[in-house]
Amino acid sequence: MPVYKAPVEDVMFLLNDVFPIERYNNLSGFADATPDTVEAILAEGAKLCEEAFAPLNLSGDQEGCTRSADGSVTTPKGFKEAYEAYSAGGWMGLAAPEEFGGQGLPSVLNTVMQEFISSANLALGMYPGLTQGAIAALLVHGTEEQKRTYLPKMIEGAWTGTMNLTEPHCGTDLGLLKSKAVPNGDGSYAISGTKIFISAGEHDMAENIVHLVLARIEGAPAGTKGISLFVVPKFLVKEDGALGDRNGVSCGSLEHKMGIHGNATCVMNYDGARGWLIGEENRGLNAMFVMMNEARLAVGVQGLAQSEVAYQNAVAYAKDRLQGRALTGAKFPDKPADPIIVHPDVRRTLLSIKAVNEAGRALVVWTGLNSDIAHRSSDEAQRQVAEDYMGLMTPVVKGVLTDLGFDNAVKAQQMFGGHGYVEESGMSQFVRDARITQIYEGANGIQAMDLVGRKLGKDGGRAVMTFFNEVGAFCQENAGDENLKAYIAPLQQGLGHLQQATMWFMQNAMARPDNAGAGATDYMHLFGLVVMGYMWAKMAKAAQGKKAEGNGAADRMDAKLVTGRFFMERLMPETGTRLARISTGADTTMALPAEAF
Ligand SMILES: Cc1cc2nc3c(=O)[nH]c(=O)nc-3n(C[C@H](O)[C@H](O)[C@H](O)COP(=O)(O)OP(=O)(O)OC[C@H]3O[C@@H](n4cnc5c(N)ncnc54)[C@H](O)[C@@H]3O)c2cc1C
Repeated sequence: MPVYKAPVEDVMFLLNDVFPIERYNNLSGFADATPDTVEAILAEGAKLCEEAFAPLNLSGDQEGCTRSADGSVTTPKGFKEAYEAYSAGGWMGLAAPEEFGGQGLPSVLNTVMQEFISSANLALGMYPGLTQGAIAALLVHGTEEQKRTYLPKMIEGAWTGTMNLTEPHCGTDLGLLKSKAVPNGDGSYAISGTKIFISAGEHDMAENIVHLVLARIEGAPAGTKGISLFVVPKFLVKEDGALGDRNGVSCGSLEHKMGIHGNATCVMNYDGARGWLIGEENRGLNAMFVMMNEARLAVGVQGLAQSEVAYQNAVAYAKDRLQGRALTGAKFPDKPADPIIVHPDVRRTLLSIKAVNEAGRALVVWTGLNSDIAHRSSDEAQRQVAEDYMGLMTPVVKGVLTDLGFDNAVKAQQMFGGHGYVEESGMSQFVRDARITQIYEGANGIQAMDLVGRKLGKDGGRAVMTFFNEVGAFCQENAGDENLKAYIAPLQQGLGHLQQATMWFMQNAMARPDNAGAGATDYMHLFGLVVMGYMWAKMAKAAQGKKAEGNGAADRMDAKLVTGRFFMERLMPETGTRLARISTGADTTMALPAEAF
C-alpha cells in the first residue's frame, strides 16, 4: 500500500518564514489565521487526507466508476463517505465568504489543502475541486438570486459543481462550439447539445449537481464572441430552495481512460435543459475564465501533488530495497547489500524531484497569497501587482508543474525498477494520474502560447517587467552575502537568460509569429526555472535566518539549503539550453511540408 504524509512542516516554513503571512493581517480573514490556528487547521486537513482519502486511492483506481442503464453513476466504494467527511469538516468553504456559509479564511490555505488532497487521492479530490471553481465563477458573475440559490448548498458540500466547455469537435478552439440556448420567454433558456470529457458530470456523492455550461444563444455571432455561460442544475431548484423536477441533462456514457479512474469523466447530453444566463450575453468565455483560471492553478497544484506523493514512496523504497554496495565500500556490511539510497544515481534522481517539489510548493503558496491580495486588498497598487502576477504565473504554474509532475512521477517509478511497473506498488497509478494534468484545463502547449502570446505583452509588458525588477532587486540586495552566493549567482545568470529570451521574442516574434510558437514551450520552462530559482533563493535566505536564530530546526534547514544548492547546480543550468533553443527560431521547425512527417 503506498504511503502519504502531508508536508505540513514545509508549508509552515513557507507561511511563517519565507512569505510571513502575518504581514497581510490587514486583509480580511488573515487576522484570524494566526500561526497556531493555521497549524491546527493544516494538521486536521492532513489527517483527513492521510486517513480518509489516501487509503481509497489504489482501490478507487482499481474499481473505477460505473454507469447504470438509467444514466446514474456510482463512484468507487468509500468515496461518498470520504466526501461526506470532507463536507462535514467545512473544507469546501474554508476560504469562501462567510455570508454564504464559508469560513472566510485566506485562500492560500485552500491552495495548500488542494495539494494535500490531490496527493492523497486525485480522482476523489476533483469532485470538490471543480465545485470550488464553480463557486468562484458564481461569486464573481452570478446574480444575487443565483448566489443565494446555489452558493450556500455548494459551500456546504451538499451540491457539487462542474464545468462544461468541451464538445466532440472542439476542445482548444472553443470558437467552434455548437451547443445552443433558446430563450424560453420566462428568463430561462432551453440548452441543447453534447458535451464530452466532463469531470464529475454525474455521480452519487451529492444531492444536486450544478453544471456551468457554455452555449451559443440563437442568433449569436460566430466564434468566441458569441458564447454565453449558463447555470444548469441537475435538479431544478424551487423558490423555497427545495429540489424540484429532474432537468433535461443526463450522462450518456463514461469515458474509459488512462488514469483518475475514480473520477467520473462523462459525456453529458443536454436536451432542452433549463438554464439561466450567468453574466452578460455573449460574454460567457469571460465569465468562464474565472473558473478556468482557478482550475488552471489547481491543476498545477495537482502536478506538484503527484510528484510529491510519488517522491515519498520512492524515498521509502530506496531506504528499504537492498541492492549492490556503495561505490565507496559497504555502508551496511551486516546486511546482504546496501539500500539503494547509497547510490549517487539514485540520490541524483530523488534530489531532482525533491528540489522541484519544494520550489513548486513555494511558487504555489506565493501565487495563492497573490490571489488573496488580488481579491482582498483595498490598496489599488498592491492589488494591481498581485493581479499581474496571477495572470503571469497561471500558465507557468499549470504548464511547468504538470510537465515536471509527470516527469517526476516517472522518475520516482524508476526507483522501484520492475516493481514500479506492476500495479500493486501504486507507482503506475501516480504516473497514469499525473498524465492528465498536462492535458486538461488547456493542454500545456496552449499554456505556453498563453504566456508568450498574451501574458508577456499585456499592459505593455508591465507584469513581466515587475517580476524582472523584483528578482533583480533581490539579487542585488543579497549579492554581498557570502552564505547566499551559491544561490544568487545562478539565479542572476538564469534571470539574464530569461531577459534575453524575452528580448528575442520582442525583436523576432512580432513580424514572424511562428518564432513565438516554436519557442513558447522552452520559454515557459525557462520562466519556470527562474521563478523556482527565485523561490529557492528566498527559501535559502529564510533557512539561513532560521538557523541563525537557533530554534531547533537546524537539520531541516540544512536539508533545505543542500536541496536548494542541488537545484542551482543541477537544474538551473538548463536555462542556457532553453535560451539557445528559443534563439534558433522557427525556420527548421516549419521547413518540412506536412507530407514529409
Ligand atoms: C479526463 C479528462 C477530464 C476532462 N475534464 C473536463 C471538464 O471537466 N470540462 C471540460 O469542459 N473539459 C474537460 N476535459 C477536456 C480537456 O480540457 C480537453 O481535452 C483539452 O482542453 C484539449 O482539447 P482537445 O482534447 O479537444 O484537444 P485539441 O484541442 O484537439 O488539441 C490537440 C493537440 O493540439 C494542440 N493544439 C491545438 N490547438 C493549438 C494551437 N492553436 N496552437 C498550438 N497547439 C495547439 C494541443 O496543445 C493538443 O496537444 C477533460 C479531458 C479529459 C481527458
